[in-house]
Amino acid sequence: MLFTSLGLSDPILKAIEETGYIKPTPIQAKAIPLVLEGKDVLAAAQTGTGKTAGFTLPLLERMVQNHKETGTHKGKPKRHVRALILTPTRELAAQILENVEMYAKYLPYKSTVVFGGVNINRQINTLKQGVEILVATPGRLLDLASQKHVDLSRVEVLVLDEADRMLDMGFIHDMKKVVKLIPKKRQTLLFSATFSKEIKALASGFQTNPSLVEVAAQNKTADRIAQLVHPVDKKKKKDLLVKLIKEGNWKQVLVFTRTKHGANKLCEHLEQHGIHSAAIHGNKSQGARTKALAGFKENSIRVLVATDIAARGIDIDMLPHVVNFELPNVPEDYVHRIGRTGRAGREGIALSLVCVDENDYLRGIERLIAQKIPKEVVVGFEVDPSIQAEPINQGGGRGRRGGGQSRNSSSRNSNSRNRSRSRS
Ligand code: AMP
Repeated sequence: MLFTSLGLSDPILKAIEETGYIKPTPIQAKAIPLVLEGKDVLAAAQTGTGKTAGFTLPLLERMVQNHKETGTHKGKPKRHVRALILTPTRELAAQILENVEMYAKYLPYKSTVVFGGVNINRQINTLKQGVEILVATPGRLLDLASQKHVDLSRVEVLVLDEADRMLDMGFIHDMKKVVKLIPKKRQTLLFSATFSKEIKALASGFQTNPSLVEVAAQNKTADRIAQLVHPVDKKKKKDLLVKLIKEGNWKQVLVFTRTKHGANKLCEHLEQHGIHSAAIHGNKSQGARTKALAGFKENSIRVLVATDIAARGIDIDMLPHVVNFELPNVPEDYVHRIGRTGRAGREGIALSLVCVDENDYLRGIERLIAQKIPKEVVVGFEVDPSIQAEPINQGGGRGRRGGGQSRNSSSRNSNSRNRSRSRS
């Protein structure tokens, strides 16, 4: 299938051509026609499947079509928000905006992004000038709406991106509040990594007869990602990582730790061994996170050490190596983590350094993905059989989930699953 057969108009096709995409990914091939028909869509697709274009391209096309029907482009009416994309984290929001701008390059629409953790005044000024497409994290959007800086009463299309993660982060009430500000007569697209019970319940509240779209079997990791476990003693993990990076001559490695403190310590260790690294997590300022991500993308930073939430949605092309320095305590996070590699058809390797304390986590992950991950002991890093498993310290603290919204975070962490998760 080609993009030209999907019913998208010329300005959008021209923008796609410039990205170099040759054909739609499976999620795009399935979702785009449904969205163009005006249907509500409930899609299970992980990051890396091309889902952002899967909702952005038809959303733009719908805007063009509605535009023609209503003739609202005549006489230069004031711009108003016609499409709202809600997403859990700042990084993801910024990346979606980049995508929107790229695909809407030849359309007359203005777009912007609003998220917490940065000065609100610039966002207010941009909104004042008017935009048609707004990408937002829920907390900041509600702040702006309650201060009447944004009017959502004419939104035609609502996208809930990474809805599962928004639930995890306790945004359910915020999502409901946002939806109340939007007309009932709208098109709602809901994207989630999986179709959990909670997601289906959410969809039934927000959507009308949604068409279901699923690209990979539920909770299966993408085949293109080679996965490997290196059993190793906890104390030797740092040295093993240094060895793997140096001997493998890895240039761009995303490493996951369970805690913010762990991320900082690991970064220090890597730096001490001459490996330029940066950490991103919820305690880092937005500026520091953006800088670290930019350095990583342009290869001046070799290793990016991240906690789960901070890394969520990071979009880096051809990320060749993802390392689980520590396994996540929630098996689904493993699937999200390794989704950073092997993106859009490219190959990737996901390595996990697993100590005896983490064997239960590993079993949980293998159950979820319904496959055994091959194990390979690295010479010189053999496991000491006399070491007994100890309970894992989850990092403690009452910090927010690293997506970092500025408002009243305790109330949104009411989700029961969330309570049992470590704060990253
Ligand atoms: P996403 O799942 O939206 O985060 O997209 C993952 C990556 O796939 C991004 O780097 C996109 O630029 C890229 N991508 C999206 N659609 C296509 C396509 N049709 N062909 C090739 N790459 C794509």
